[in-house]
Amino acid sequence: MPYETVIGLEVHCELCTKSKIFCGCTTRFGGAPNTQVCPVCSGMPGALPVLNRAVVEYAIRAGLATNCNITRNNKFDRKNYFYPDLPKAYQISQLYYPICTEGWIALEGKRVRIREIHMEEDAGKLVHDPWEDATLADYNRCGVPLLEIVSQPDMRSAAEAVEYIEKLKAILEYTGVSDCKMQEGSLRADVNLSVRPVGQKEFGTRTEMKNLNSLRAIARAIEAETARQIELIEDGGRVTQETRRWDDDRGETYAMRSKEDAQDYKYFPEPDLPPIEISEEQINALRASLPELPEAKKRRYREELGLPEYDTGIIAGSVPLVRLFERTCAICGDAKEAANWVMGEVLRLLQATQTLPEHMAFEPDALGRLILLTQKNVINRGTAKKVFAEVFRSNVDPEAYVKEHNLGLVTDDSAIRAVIADVLKQNEKAVDEWNRGKVQAMQFLIGQCMKALRGQAPAEKVSSLLRAMMGGDLQ
Ligand SMILES: [Zn+2]
Repeated sequence: MPYETVIGLEVHCELCTKSKIFCGCTTRFGGAPNTQVCPVCSGMPGALPVLNRAVVEYAIRAGLATNCNITRNNKFDRKNYFYPDLPKAYQISQLYYPICTEGWIALEGKRVRIREIHMEEDAGKLVHDPWEDATLADYNRCGVPLLEIVSQPDMRSAAEAVEYIEKLKAILEYTGVSDCKMQEGSLRADVNLSVRPVGQKEFGTRTEMKNLNSLRAIARAIEAETARQIELIEDGGRVTQETRRWDDDRGETYAMRSKEDAQDYKYFPEPDLPPIEISEEQINALRASLPELPEAKKRRYREELGLPEYDTGIIAGSVPLVRLFERTCAICGDAKEAANWVMGEVLRLLQATQTLPEHMAFEPDALGRLILLTQKNVINRGTAKKVFAEVFRSNVDPEAYVKEHNLGLVTDDSAIRAVIADVLKQNEKAVDEWNRGKVQAMQFLIGQCMKALRGQAPAEKVSSLLRAMMGGDLQ
């Protein structure tokens, strides 16, 4: 029987604010354990939270950029649970009045609806120490602001889930809400998944897979969990509603605990924080300050710059690539050439060195200036590629590198003639053949001249000088 997979995602992203959500501690990643904590975020009795207004602004920006309604009067709630990474034994979150509701993100050919976006605080991190056979708690992450973006169960395949996250990630990066570094855990997703026979209206029983932090893991977990549920049903069993963990090494999911209902958390209104009121003016000002978003940028690249659909998708999908592309265009004035370089050499080197676009470390002007050198015929394309590899690898200055390594094209006629004369002297046989009417001999001689010039002369010029010399001097 054919089955359909039904997927909803809860994406958590850490915000780019400098300080935490309810205290002044820094949010910087990677500090020594428990050096970025205070009485508020480490849950000392009697310490009171004070809301960081920037978090509210970031949440509104995210909501506007994903077509949500903004809840003008929203408030915080306590989600009570005990776990050693949560020193207060409750998380401040939003259950009853989340700040954003009812948005959507456009995928190719469909919309995925967003049920809500709410603000909350992150928990700490537990690290198991195998030497001491002990678990250590690092509370630096406690109180780092998070947005939880909850979709409706509108996705039907791993590919759609990945596309949704890629689109959402680009929007959050464009608006400066989050850096979305999945490898540092600043963007992670819980996957809710069920299957049902194609044509059936009701949803099947769903399971939840928590804290997936790479696109690859999300796609693999969806495939594996879909197969597991279908097999279970085909064998006459029933899917249990539960939380499962994805084991990336073994490529399978396993049961963690059965799902608590919302009631189990005993949510109640947070008494230490006043309700949040957002004015129409504030929303309008934030709406006006939003940058050009990925879909609009794609359209503009396609319609105004004439880039192919595929290229617009790749470039507009990544903020670092957008920055590089737009800077390069501004310098060399040729969008097609800039796009060719980004889609060609830049992607090739990123791939070859397993580097993420956000880790490109070269001077952002370098690619544009390198293209200028080719446009002015200072170097040819082949040389430019070699120079770019050095720019990419060790951030060399293109002009200085070309000069230092003497890579500039030889454009002086007399210098080229001297090299040609030398080549002709050493290739008397080919010259002879040309004189007897063998046309291919000319190609061979041009090749020899270019080789002698190390490719650093304009080929048309070499060819015309050579012909002139063969016709005149040597007959
Ligand atoms: Zn603190």
